[in-house]
Amino acid sequence: MTRLVNDCFSNASEMITVQEARKLIADATIPITTTEIIELYDANNRILAQDIYSTLNVPPANNSAVDGYAFCFADHLKNPATPLDVLGRSAAGQPFDGNLNSGQCVKIFTGAVVPAGCDTIAMIEDTRLSGNTVLLPQGLKEGTNCRLAGEDIRKDSLLLTKGTYLRPQELGYLASIGIKEIQVSKKLKVALFSTGDELNEPGEALQSGKIYDSNRVILNSLLLGYGCEVYDYGIVPDEFETLRSVLEKAAEDVDLIITSGGVSMGDEDHVKAAVEDTGNLHFWRIAIKPGRPLAVGQVANTAFVGLPGNPVAALVCAMQFVRPLIASLCGDTSFQLPIPITGTAQFSMKKKPGRREWSRGRYSIDRAGKPIVEKYFTDGSGIVSSLIWANGLIELAENITEVKEGDPVTILPFTELFR
Ligand code: AMP
Ligand code: MG
Repeated sequence: MTRLVNDCFSNASEMITVQEARKLIADATIPITTTEIIELYDANNRILAQDIYSTLNVPPANNSAVDGYAFCFADHLKNPATPLDVLGRSAAGQPFDGNLNSGQCVKIFTGAVVPAGCDTIAMIEDTRLSGNTVLLPQGLKEGTNCRLAGEDIRKDSLLLTKGTYLRPQELGYLASIGIKEIQVSKKLKVALFSTGDELNEPGEALQSGKIYDSNRVILNSLLLGYGCEVYDYGIVPDEFETLRSVLEKAAEDVDLIITSGGVSMGDEDHVKAAVEDTGNLHFWRIAIKPGRPLAVGQVANTAFVGLPGNPVAALVCAMQFVRPLIASLCGDTSFQLPIPITGTAQFSMKKKPGRREWSRGRYSIDRAGKPIVEKYFTDGSGIVSSLIWANGLIELAENITEVKEGDPVTILPFTELFR
């Protein structure tokens, strides 16, 4: 069962910091525990739900890192200038199964098992073949070019722990010990809807006084990228009763409900009241720009986040607060907050102290090869054009009051924020 426990939220009227908000979310989250067994081929971007121990050594046998000749180092050391007889060949998947005597070697190929009695491999380019004998180079070290059994993975070792986010390399790791299917956390089910009487669905004719709903497709794509299964509840009007019944229905279907709009203080902002009526609401003023306010709570046992209506604010809040919440709900232990890049500011600005700000920014490398950061010319949180122009969010810490052109500034790349 997914939910946010109730008893650890702060007073609604207080202004809280980004860290406090994230900590409250993390502390209140109970991860979902439902799992499923899926094929490795379907497991990219999923969360592993079991510890994996290796049942074998990888590689299973000593094998060659190069094409060349395998020989016994100690034997060859006795007469290093004498060519060795080539007794046979060991190719990848077709090992040599004879026995070597003194003065003999075996032709070997990359990935082929090193024959019994051999421990060192001379690269073919460094040898001289004449007839059936081969002259090895001087000065090779014992064990050269021989990849040892178990040097990558040791039998019985703990390979991956429960909660690991699976990337292509983890899947390859699992495949290398012969795993075909694994247990993963079920995808987090997320209900998504937009609120607002002014919203028209793209594809419809735009009515007078209305705008198209752009938040939902932004958030839908973001959530899919975060590995969620999205349940689309469309556009919900600014009506308490309708909101209430959609929330109740969604709470039966999903683990997390995300909405946008209707969480401010206006007459038509009914989302808070509807959540309060069906569950519990923790309404936060977070010391950030853009994005105040954010509503967090639960409807029955389903977690709820009400994002601001302005598209930029909705996206920024989803990246900054919903992303870590999703990681917690999924039990994703690999998740870490995006790591900023530092570059030289190409802009100047003043800023209020005491709040964290994210401005749309663009980082690049200048002619001298140094990272630079530009800022979009205007800050309005309804300006979607700024997100098209940008490739990241400039992050201005609480204590900053001014940025001067030439100062170092940090930017969170979208490549990190969309993961
Ligand atoms: P609200 O928080 O509902 O007061 O909305 C704040 C601003 O965001 C208003 O200008 C809304 O028209 C706008 N807005 C709300 N929801 C959406 C949406 N889904 N797509 C585009 N703009 C929206
Ligand atoms: Mg509204």
